Amino acid sequence: MDSLEDDVSYSLDSSELDLASEYDGQSLDESSSEASDDALDLDFEDFEGVEDSEGSDLESVATPEDIAGTSEIDLQVNMADGALENLPCHGDDIAGTSEIDLRVNMADGALEDLPCYEDELGIAIPDGDGLFDGNIYPIGFYQRGIANMDIEAYQRKAYAQATLTQINAVEDTWHLFCTKVFPGGTDYISHLRAIRFEVVYQFLHWHLGQRTGKGGRRKRAMTKRSSLITFWCCFRLFFEGVTTTKIDEFVDRRLMHNALVELGDKFQLTYETRENRSMTLQDLKDQIECTLCTTEKTFGLGELRILAVLFLLLLAPQGSRPTSILMLRFGDIKVLLVRDPTNPDGPPRLVIRLSLEYTKQYLGPKATKHFMIPEIIYDPSLLLSPHVFLLAILYRHRAFETEDLNASPALLNKLRIHPSGNEFPLHLRPDLDNVFIFRRAARSLTGYTISDDPITYNMMGGWIRRIGVLLGFEDNTISYNLRYMAGNNLDQNINISDALRNLIMDHAPQSATFQKNYLNRNVVADLWAIHRNHEPQQALLQQATSHGHSKNSRRPVTLTEAQRQAVLEGSAKYYQLTARLASLGWGAKFRDQRREISLERDSLRKKLCNDEIKRVREAWARTQFADDIERQIRGESFTHESAGPNRDMRPMGTAQQQMFNALTTPLPADIDAIGMRRTKAIEALIAYCTVEEPSTNYLLNAKRKPEPELQGPRKRTRHVQEPESRGEQVDKEQLWRSTFVSTMGKQKVKKCFVCVAKALTLELNDPLFEGLCRDFRTPNTAANHFLRIHANNLDEQDAVDCPICQIPLDDKMHLLNHAEGVHGLKTEKRIFVASAYTYLCTAKN
Ligand SMILES: [Zn+2]
Ligand SMILES: [Zn+2]
Repeated sequence: MDSLEDDVSYSLDSSELDLASEYDGQSLDESSSEASDDALDLDFEDFEGVEDSEGSDLESVATPEDIAGTSEIDLQVNMADGALENLPCHGDDIAGTSEIDLRVNMADGALEDLPCYEDELGIAIPDGDGLFDGNIYPIGFYQRGIANMDIEAYQRKAYAQATLTQINAVEDTWHLFCTKVFPGGTDYISHLRAIRFEVVYQFLHWHLGQRTGKGGRRKRAMTKRSSLITFWCCFRLFFEGVTTTKIDEFVDRRLMHNALVELGDKFQLTYETRENRSMTLQDLKDQIECTLCTTEKTFGLGELRILAVLFLLLLAPQGSRPTSILMLRFGDIKVLLVRDPTNPDGPPRLVIRLSLEYTKQYLGPKATKHFMIPEIIYDPSLLLSPHVFLLAILYRHRAFETEDLNASPALLNKLRIHPSGNEFPLHLRPDLDNVFIFRRAARSLTGYTISDDPITYNMMGGWIRRIGVLLGFEDNTISYNLRYMAGNNLDQNINISDALRNLIMDHAPQSATFQKNYLNRNVVADLWAIHRNHEPQQALLQQATSHGHSKNSRRPVTLTEAQRQAVLEGSAKYYQLTARLASLGWGAKFRDQRREISLERDSLRKKLCNDEIKRVREAWARTQFADDIERQIRGESFTHESAGPNRDMRPMGTAQQQMFNALTTPLPADIDAIGMRRTKAIEALIAYCTVEEPSTNYLLNAKRKPEPELQGPRKRTRHVQEPESRGEQVDKEQLWRSTFVSTMGKQKVKKCFVCVAKALTLELNDPLFEGLCRDFRTPNTAANHFLRIHANNLDEQDAVDCPICQIPLDDKMHLLNHAEGVHGLKTEKRIFVASAYTYLCTAKN
């Protein structure tokens, strides 16, 4: 990252935060970085990149289970079911609700072409009972409805957004194919209408053989047969959407079936689908512990780290689809105190009630399901307690309707159920009903705030994957590992019927999906022991077939500096871009050109490094164990260091450490102490919610003083100086003054006054302190940092206080003037450049 700074002085200094977080999330991302670069690169192999989809589990697309099968008919029946179910509902609504409600219920797009009811009111006059000849609509309404009905709208099916995205991508591909194969001919839609088997066959062949995508970028080859089938299914949907006719009337199914087999063989597509290993509970615990403790991955705001854990804990019990958890709103959650029937006079039990909507939209919305999660009172580890994490989020946002209850989680221990009842709901604030629980953080002038936007599936997936890498799992860690865990555990449990399992997993009424995609293909049964009448070694089998079977803390996580250099030097293209940058002059004239080249070089470097770490990890998995064997035969001890570079693990900050300690307090013996333990843990989590985490690179750059690189394993405490010695060096008063032009002189301020203001609120030994007070290379880089990290987060009209001078500033322009006049950050000419750079960065992703 730092080499960039040398090349592009105007803005990259301040881009490090963003680049760092990108890099964090994607350094081992095998799929999405390329796929998202290129809409045409329609790679169905990895559905994780697409919201609400299931990897090799193709439910979301029109069930490609058997091309020659009856899937289409099933779908039709299901559609009809949904439609019929809705009818009586409307009837009920009609009886009880006003006409306006009714219109809202009925319309929803489908009936919008019908004449407006108000028009009708002008003509028809209701009877004394408010009805028109016994109906709530006048008869003219129905007559016009018959005349104006848009039948086509009903022939088009409604698909989930993810499926739509794929259909659109297929359309783009077909368009491109037609322009190449039939140049100057009729448009691509006409070619679609006049479809012939030989054209479709060659279209699929062309798609498989295509190696460049949109904008001439390289496109990855399809490797899995399931991807081809998905592509074909999407093409069928595209065809049906355009022609409202089934493609099979034109392209014989059996013909196509054979064609797909033939094409699959020709392009050597594999039958392998994604591993469907379950996590074990130990894997989950490790994942949670690492999410809470690691300093190798930062989340920006502490609350996001806690949400990342809460997500796992709310998903795990019922193995929900990840999107249904991410879309949870406060209104979908109820917190109850319930009388314990086995101990009616004892303390009430805390129960979370989750209401989950069915997230697959294809077959229409389904009735909401409710899940109860009672707290495990004698829980040996709070790391696995969804209650503690959820309560922390509720308290953090003061979500209880009874305002006094929001004061402290300790109050929960005092509450008892009135003898007249068995249940005691702790209502949440109604204004939060539609607010998402899993929300993104947004940058403000001085730091982060929680925004209204939900965390996306890709974002959460990136976090989970990265933590899995840090833990040393071989395969990508995905939220579906937890869904597999739930499914397989339910399948093994004698208390759960198949019917109930299908309901919980959203597979009802059929078990086929579970059978095909969820049942662990690494068979979790000690078959030989069963045959031989021995006790099966179930625990062993479970570990060996789980996602965590490959866990190894020595597995490389990042490239060493030498590996990184080698891979960059080995790339002619990278060399060429570097040379072009070096040959360019400085100044405004070259600014755009420099920016373009350095962005290109940046993304190339990212790709090269990603490919390389993937290769290194594969090589490690092949050779490390042979090495271990040889060492042991030679009588030597194991190598304990990680095979990658020595990982630079900062110690946890105080709040983080306290949070972890509180969550891992051993289970006390008496019930009051158990309540206290929960309270302490919730309080520690709340405290951590507001902590802003330093970006790894932000810190590294701040520390990258000319001091020589330490040899040998780094000391974990290298960065923490003794508070006393630091206290002597840092004079807060002087620090404060160093942000003013009046004391430093014109063009001399090299600190960011917003960061310094934040530092002044911290303890001297806070790990953030030094990074915040750093001197930038030049006043210009400081100004760019100020714009990108702070000022650009504001809207033009936002009024803020200067965090250093504590004086109110009317709007953004006022702030910029103040920054320049008082704190020496010359922002005038840079606004455009910095925002254009931001734009380019976001556009690139
Ligand atoms: Zn700053
Ligand atoms: Zn000021």
